[in-house]
Parts: sequence; structure tokens; C-alpha cells
Amino acid sequence: MGSGGGGVHNHFDIFESFFSGSFGGGGSRFRASRQKRGEDVVHTLRVSLEDLYNGTTKKLSLSRSILCPKCKGKGSKSGASGACYGCQGTGMRVTTRQIAPGMIQQMQHVCPECRGSGEVISDSDRCPQCKGNKVTQEKKVLEVNVEKGMEHNQKITFEGEADQAPDIITGDIVFVLQQKEHPKFKRKFDDLYMEHTLTLTEALCGFQFVLTHLDGRQLLIKSNPGEVIKPGKHVLPLCAILSVRRDGLQSLNSSLKYR
Ligand SMILES: [Zn+2]
Ligand SMILES: [Zn+2]
Repeated sequence: MGSGGGGVHNHFDIFESFFSGSFGGGGSRFRASRQKRGEDVVHTLRVSLEDLYNGTTKKLSLSRSILCPKCKGKGSKSGASGACYGCQGTGMRVTTRQIAPGMIQQMQHVCPECRGSGEVISDSDRCPQCKGNKVTQEKKVLEVNVEKGMEHNQKITFEGEADQAPDIITGDIVFVLQQKEHPKFKRKFDDLYMEHTLTLTEALCGFQFVLTHLDGRQLLIKSNPGEVIKPGKHVLPLCAILSVRRDGLQSLNSSLKYR
């Protein structure tokens, strides 16, 4: 009799058995007392620079395994299961073959009859909803809160929302933010930079243009009266690198740089 059910996909059991060397334990399930932790599921989440600047909420529909609600992850109507005959409840089978005279190779593999769970559920007792699999698929909508000022590669974690399986602690779903290239702005830490090309006339006689910020604000960028923008020796037209701080126009003009 399996002490605590078995995960169909629980590959940890395989390693556990390998390292312990306890093959074919004659009916006693080999299982550590502490619970295993399921794997985290990692998704990348593409966001625009506008999303990171203004903050946003993304709704994502994900499909995941959950313990069957009808049988509560037991797989059977009665809640009972018997030890698999194919593996005496261990979930593993050992086969031996002779690879050379006097040399026998012992191989361990997942029991095909119970798929490693060590249990069998009789056909009549099988849960009609999950058909004895103990898990079913669920669609779930997660609301991912991208906060103002978050960065490329930053992680947003939903604890315990990954795939459920019997006898494991459910892992996390982790979203890793991936910032899409912006056509105009580049981000360096908390500053934004953009390049703007000036004609020779603009460099000599002054310039102004309207810049739309990431939050939609229209900023008027203009040179100081009488200021002549000096180009690099032979570099024409000029490239201005503007640093746009969060607080807007005030620091913008003062951090106008040229190269
Ligand atoms: Zn079996
Ligand atoms: Zn079920």
C-alpha cells in the first residue's frame, strides 16, 4: 500500500532510489519523510518601456495541473488504492541483462504499469473526472502587476501557483520581465536617453522640438537663446543626447549633452 500516493511525473523518486541503492523494497514505498518541492515554472513577460515607466497590469491565461477536485488527488472514488503488482508498490522495476560473459548489467526503470506511482486503482474504482490520473488541467488567469520603475530581468513571483501533483509542495510561477527595445528612448538605471539630430542651421541659430514622453506628456525641448551648439570637429549633423528624468522638464535642459 502506497503511504502517500505517488506523482506520475515525480522523477525525484528515481534519483532517490538510485542514490539510496534500495531497489525493489518488497512492498514498502521508499519515500523520504519531508515533502519534495515541485519545480518552478518560469515565463518571460515582454513589456514596453512605457509599461515599466507607467506601471501596468497584464492578465495572462495559463494552463496548469491541479489535484483533481473530485477525488482530491487520490485517483479513486473510494480513496483507496492497492500496491502495483508490477513493482510491488515501489514504482520502479529492475531488469538485468548480460552484456558480456560474467558481466551483468542491472537497469532500473519506471514501472510501466503504474507509471512510477507504485499504486493501482481498479477500473471500477477509478475517479471518473481524472480517470485515475489524480490531476486535471485548469485554466487560470493571473494578474501580473508591473510596478512603476521595474527593470529589465526583474522577477515577479506567484508562490505556489505552479503545477500541482500528489505529495509535493507546489512550486512557484515566476515571470521575468523582458523590456522590448524602444524606438526612441534608451534606459540607463532610472534615466532615459534619446538621440536627436540637429541640422547645421539649428545648431547655429537655435532649435526647438516637441518630445512626447513615455506617459504622453508633451515636452518642449529648446536651446537657450543665443546658444550655439558646437559640433565635434567634423561631426555634422549633431547628435544630442537628452536625459529625461522622472521629474520632467526641469532637469531635462540642464542635462542636454552633445557629442
Ligand atoms: Zn508498478
Ligand atoms: Zn479524480
